Amino acid sequence: MIMQRKRCPNFNHGRSNPPVRFCPLCGEVVNEAILIRECSDEEHAISRRKRNTYCLHCGERLIQ
Ligand SMILES: [Zn+2]
Ligand SMILES: [Zn+2]
Repeated sequence: MIMQRKRCPNFNHGRSNPPVRFCPLCGEVVNEAILIRECSDEEHAISRRKRNTYCLHCGERLIQ
């Protein structure tokens, strides 16, 4: 069975130079030029409140 991969609707994928490394929706790298950052729990809590499934900076999954 071939899994049809749905295209992620996040706007960062369509940009030539997105301001973040990871897509908050699917966790894919959208800009490899941006280095992975070490985040604090507080930053992840804020990101979680914005309903980001993945962290924009380190790619960690925030919402299970
Ligand atoms: Zn995505
Ligand atoms: Zn993070």
